[in-house]
Amino acid sequence: MLVVGAGAVAERKIEALLRAGALPRIGAPRLSPALAARAEAGQVQWLAGSFQANWLDTDIWLVIAATDDAAINREVAAAAQSRRLFANVVDDAQLSAFHVPAVVERGPLQIAISSGGGAPMVARHVRRQIETLFDQAWGQLAELVSRKRGLIRERLPDLAARRRFFDRLVEGPVLDLLRRRQSVDAQCQLLQDLANEAPTPTGSVVLVGAGSGDPGLLTLNALRALNQADVILHDRLVSADVLQLARRDADYIEVGKSAQGHSTAQDYIHALMLEHARAGKRVVRLKGGDAFVFGRGGEELQFLRAHGIAYEVVPGITAALACAAYAGIPLTHRDHAQQLRLVTAHCKNSLDTLDWSTLAQARQTLVFYMGVSALAQIRAQLLEAGLPASTPFALVENGSRSSQRVVSGQLRNLAETARQHQVQSPALLIVGDVAALADELHWFGAAPLHANPVVSSLSAKTLASTLADAA
Ligand code: SAH
Repeated sequence: MLVVGAGAVAERKIEALLRAGALPRIGAPRLSPALAARAEAGQVQWLAGSFQANWLDTDIWLVIAATDDAAINREVAAAAQSRRLFANVVDDAQLSAFHVPAVVERGPLQIAISSGGGAPMVARHVRRQIETLFDQAWGQLAELVSRKRGLIRERLPDLAARRRFFDRLVEGPVLDLLRRRQSVDAQCQLLQDLANEAPTPTGSVVLVGAGSGDPGLLTLNALRALNQADVILHDRLVSADVLQLARRDADYIEVGKSAQGHSTAQDYIHALMLEHARAGKRVVRLKGGDAFVFGRGGEELQFLRAHGIAYEVVPGITAALACAAYAGIPLTHRDHAQQLRLVTAHCKNSLDTLDWSTLAQARQTLVFYMGVSALAQIRAQLLEAGLPASTPFALVENGSRSSQRVVSGQLRNLAETARQHQVQSPALLIVGDVAALADELHWFGAAPLHANPVVSSLSAKTLASTLADAA
């Protein structure tokens, strides 16, 4: 195998050939430092000098022309063709006798995407999408299956039975076990499936954090879980844009609004998870932000564990991180804050039990979830505990969504400013010096809103007397 040229393109090709286990030769007048090191280490052989057709007469069956000189590339292609050797000319589909596809590698599994040499950029784009669909677990599955291939053939000599087994294998829990790095359990499960002609489906629950609204904030793991789900139990906070990315034929159930005969909405959610998982379904419990940040994910896992249902957790981008990023508020800017506190202001009870003196410390950023209806109390408590009235705040409403609004000001005007702009839930309150940076660093949606100027009593009086004069 010969690569003609030793520039950046040739270097990439040689790296790929080395990964594939080849011992390539390089024909070029000079080598880059990286290639020279490889030659010294004996990983490549160097034919020094300008291209000579007789390089192809020494045990070569595949040639890649990767010089930046079109005439030389043509010469290489012609010399290869006359010897009936396969040649690829980089960036020249016409001259190439074969094309090099974009490849997604997952262990022994290789997915090649080719545009016939004509549109490599398009192929690269498709590769990126395929990368997200097939994670490393597929490589491990291919590796596991190839190890057990003999056994599988022996147990299931009938082709149709073998097909059914493989169908069940890729749909079943083995892949998920590999994803959780439980390769011994995955192997046991495969052997168990092999022993059972038609195993009963085992249901499971994936607790997925959906991020704060912008579907781009979903993780690749979240997207995969949504694509595999049979049943999706989602909160009201999960945006429609996110739900659109999930499997079309899944059952969608909005939970958290009505208790429907159960003592609490949470009991209802537990009952639904149990019912569907026991029926062998893959259930996705989809929550806004992250399931473990004020999301009751912990209770749901405890319930699932108590009932012997398998589960997984996919973290999500919590509102504090998403809202801060989309409002241009660096939560721990080193000039202003050394700590970050995530606080729930859900109910009166939680406000009373908070340690306000800790919250009023200097050089920290406070983020209040569920605080819209308690702004006056939050301000009163913080002021009483000694936080200066001039401390900046920012309220981020519908963070990361197209309807995002940011309202900012000083703690002393918090409740009034929010009222003026009619800030509604879901909104997040950020208190601390960093909140003021939104004015400078905002980039998404409109600039922060501030308190509307209040007509002072003096100017109101002047206005009144002017009106009286006019009458
Ligand atoms: N588990 C969620 C939080 C649930 S509590 C998470 O990690 O984000 C619900 C509170 O989160 C809301 O009252 C609001 O304060 C905040 N919140 C969630 N999404 C938000 C958004 N897009 N914009 C502003 N605040 C949001």
